[in-house]
Amino acid sequence: MDHRLLEIIACPVCNGKLNYIQDKQELICKIDNLAFPVRDGIPVLLENEARVLAAEESRP
Ligand SMILES: [Zn+2]
Repeated sequence: MDHRLLEIIACPVCNGKLNYIQDKQELICKIDNLAFPVRDGIPVLLENEARVLAAEESRP
Protein backbone atom coordinates (compact mmCIF):
# COMPACT_ATOMS: atom_id res chain seq x y z
CA MET A 1 0.00 0.00 0.00
CA ASP A 2 1.09 3.53 -0.75
CA HIS A 3 2.63 5.10 2.33
CA ARG A 4 1.54 8.56 1.25
CA LEU A 5 -2.00 7.26 1.38
CA LEU A 6 -1.39 6.04 4.91
CA GLU A 7 -0.47 9.55 5.99
CA ILE A 8 -3.78 11.04 4.90
CA ILE A 9 -6.21 8.38 5.99
CA ALA A 10 -7.68 8.29 9.48
CA CYS A 11 -9.92 6.09 11.53
CA PRO A 12 -13.56 6.70 10.54
CA VAL A 13 -14.65 6.21 14.14
CA CYS A 14 -12.28 8.46 16.10
CA ASN A 15 -10.36 10.25 13.31
CA GLY A 16 -7.16 8.97 14.87
CA LYS A 17 -4.05 7.65 13.19
CA LEU A 18 -4.08 4.12 11.81
CA ASN A 19 -1.24 1.63 11.92
CA TYR A 20 -0.74 -0.42 8.80
CA ILE A 21 0.06 -4.05 9.48
CA GLN A 22 1.57 -5.27 6.25
CA ASP A 23 1.59 -8.96 7.21
CA LYS A 24 -2.13 -8.97 7.80
CA GLN A 25 -3.11 -6.29 5.28
CA GLU A 26 -4.98 -4.44 7.96
CA LEU A 27 -5.14 -0.92 9.32
CA ILE A 28 -5.36 -0.88 13.06
CA CYS A 29 -6.82 1.74 15.36
CA LYS A 30 -5.48 1.22 18.84
CA ILE A 31 -7.98 3.64 20.33
CA ASP A 32 -11.02 1.73 19.11
CA ASN A 33 -9.31 -1.68 18.96
CA LEU A 34 -10.50 -2.11 15.40
CA ALA A 35 -8.74 -3.56 12.38
CA PHE A 36 -9.84 -2.31 8.97
CA PRO A 37 -9.13 -4.57 6.01
CA VAL A 38 -6.98 -3.55 3.04
CA ARG A 39 -8.32 -5.21 -0.09
CA ASP A 40 -6.19 -5.14 -3.23
CA GLY A 41 -4.26 -2.23 -1.76
CA ILE A 42 -7.39 -0.25 -1.03
CA PRO A 43 -8.22 0.50 2.60
CA VAL A 44 -11.79 -0.32 3.53
CA LEU A 45 -12.47 2.27 6.19
CA LEU A 46 -15.95 1.20 7.17
CA GLU A 47 -16.82 0.48 10.75
CA ASN A 48 -19.06 -2.44 9.80
CA GLU A 49 -16.20 -4.03 7.80
CA ALA A 50 -13.73 -3.79 10.64
CA ARG A 51 -12.98 -6.55 13.06
CA VAL A 52 -12.47 -6.07 16.76
CA LEU A 53 -8.94 -6.79 17.88
CA ALA A 54 -8.20 -9.34 20.54
CA ALA A 55 -6.54 -7.87 23.62
CA GLU A 56 -3.12 -9.31 22.80
CA GLU A 57 -3.21 -7.88 19.28
CA SER A 58 -3.65 -4.31 20.43
CA ARG A 59 -0.38 -4.34 22.39
CA PRO A 60 2.60 -2.74 20.69
ZN1 LIG B 1 -10.33 4.91 15.89
